[in-house]
Amino acid sequence: MLSYRHAFHAGNHADVFKHAVLIHCIRHFLKKEKAFHYIDTHAGAGLYELTQGFAARTRESETGIAQLVSANADNLPPLLRNYVHTVLNFNPTPQLEFYPGSPLIAQYLMRPHDALRLHELHQADHDILQTHVAGDPRILLQKRDGFRGLIKAFPPVSRRGLALIDPPYEVKTDYRIVADAIHDARVKFPTGTILVWYPLLENELFRYLKEDLIQVSGPSWLNAEFGVSKPGPGLYGSGMWVIQPPWDLPAELEQCRAPLLQLLGAGPSASLDVRFEIP
Ligand code: SAM
Repeated sequence: MLSYRHAFHAGNHADVFKHAVLIHCIRHFLKKEKAFHYIDTHAGAGLYELTQGFAARTRESETGIAQLVSANADNLPPLLRNYVHTVLNFNPTPQLEFYPGSPLIAQYLMRPHDALRLHELHQADHDILQTHVAGDPRILLQKRDGFRGLIKAFPPVSRRGLALIDPPYEVKTDYRIVADAIHDARVKFPTGTILVWYPLLENELFRYLKEDLIQVSGPSWLNAEFGVSKPGPGLYGSGMWVIQPPWDLPAELEQCRAPLLQLLGAGPSASLDVRFEIP
């Protein structure tokens, strides 16, 4: 039974962090002319209305993307500036009405010779996403389990692959399956870049996930955690784990520390922790 709907959370602090890092990684792949494959294991609906429907009920974007949009984009560091420009591209007027999910962000940034493999199990969100990507010959959208889809998609024919693993973590088994899927995927294609998003919650299950991730990541990885407040009830932040990260990601994230804490942090206990091993 799938109950999670990403529309309730579209554009919140966790989306900001995830999508800003994702865009940086996609842009890194774009630096080479050679084609690459993007694999989204948990794609969601693709585009979210912020002024009505689910997102308007929770208004989570007000403490997320809206804070960055209202800042002067020219004063933001490149990683956040590129992110804000990408989101604004989906908004025809200066008012923030729409928020793009990971598959539409990738679709927007990628080139005619690149390819996208998208997976979404929820029937309603799959069907919404289908309306957004229909007719794009680069895209294969499947209503199937994204963990299995990732293993099947590796190695990509282009031999350049970037994957985002972004499960809802509503079922606790997601924490285990993430690392298992990465293990199996990396056996088939060890050089792929893999991004994992995870929630910072009081149950601290993310600690087990990280212990597993370090076992399956190989020699090159980065872990960044953005806590918007001190640990407490509900989502108090999120983490990104990046296998085979772009070499410049640590420095780019470092530049984001002050604006992220200042604009999205809920007080002095907000934090950004970055650790990495990049040979
Ligand atoms: N990646 C999206 C983004 O950044 O815009 C958000 C994805 S949302 C956090 C997780 C999505 O995964 C939900 O839409 C849910 O229906 C879907 N889902 C849950 N289990 C899945 C599975 N095993 N395979 C594929 N999709 C799944």
